[in-house]
Amino acid sequence: MKTRLLTTSPKHLRLAADIISAGGLVAFPTETVYGLGGDAMNPSAAALIYEAKGRPSDNPLIVHLADPAEAVHLTEDIPETFARLAERFWPGPLTLVVRKKASVPDATTGGLPTVALRIPDNAVALELIRLARTPVAAPSANLSGHPSPTCWEHVRADLDGRIDAIIKGDPSRVGLESTVLDLTGPAPLILRPGLVTPEEIEAALGQPVTYDPAITEPMDPKSAPRAPGMKYRHYAPRAEMIVFKGDPEVVVRIIEERRLQEKAAGKKVGTLLYGQAEKHLIARDFFSRLRQMDQTGVDLILAAAVSTEDSVGFSIMNRMLKAAGYRIEEV
Ligand code: AMP
Ligand code: MG
Repeated sequence: MKTRLLTTSPKHLRLAADIISAGGLVAFPTETVYGLGGDAMNPSAAALIYEAKGRPSDNPLIVHLADPAEAVHLTEDIPETFARLAERFWPGPLTLVVRKKASVPDATTGGLPTVALRIPDNAVALELIRLARTPVAAPSANLSGHPSPTCWEHVRADLDGRIDAIIKGDPSRVGLESTVLDLTGPAPLILRPGLVTPEEIEAALGQPVTYDPAITEPMDPKSAPRAPGMKYRHYAPRAEMIVFKGDPEVVVRIIEERRLQEKAAGKKVGTLLYGQAEKHLIARDFFSRLRQMDQTGVDLILAAAVSTEDSVGFSIMNRMLKAAGYRIEEV
């Protein structure tokens, strides 16, 4: 398949929307990362998304809307919390999981009785969804397991020849995938941390919000080596990666010693040292840096942990540890 590169001109967005309406796939910019879009109501389009990404078909897709009013057509038993969160955070990097209507194909939700919804904060994405006149299912536009794409060139590197078109929009402003919040249980539960923080959600709802234990347990260095399912890598560079955690000055020194050692042993070593950089800037940069290291043929990445005292740092560490296959050394 020849993958067309499209601009953000009205003519090209019309063309992109027609591809989606016809059951094809178009990668498009969002504020979080680039998405691989297909018609969420068309099971064969959903199947094509899984195939293009090489993604296991039980990993559900996020459905992107242009207008919160569309949610009523897709969901059953909308909780009262939904409207409050949509009002406060949409368009934006918060995905809400609610019960689905039968009309939403199982192929889109990975067989789950729930559907994940979001309105992206990106003018090109919104216009594309409006023109397609259908909800757009869109996971990150990368090959499954690779770092998420934060610019169109990343999408081309992974999916050229596997999808119909790529819209050449701006690089993603946020750089990490959306916060995923499950509203179907007795209390709101964060399934994936992102830039919308539990504190902000709690403030909007006036009730406590918790992280799924599957997120927090692996973040605890004491439980990390024992926790199940930890060996699989996600968001991962080709290079081996180790995260160093501890006093920042000691971490820098240990990483430098290790770099020299490994270099002497013939390895090409890359380092990831963000120091005191502002957390939102780290979030924007992180996936792109992993891809750069791969491009320059790095064999080993030595990364300094970022502080998880604030929720944005916590989200970055969630991605960093997965990228490293949870290989942490405490110094
Ligand atoms: P991605 O599209 O690559 O950003 O991944 C989508 C994320 O949303 C995955 O982590 C899914 O597990 C999560 N997700 C999507 N739909 C649902 C759902 N119905 N229930 C729970 N999690 C979901
Ligand atoms: Mg993804």
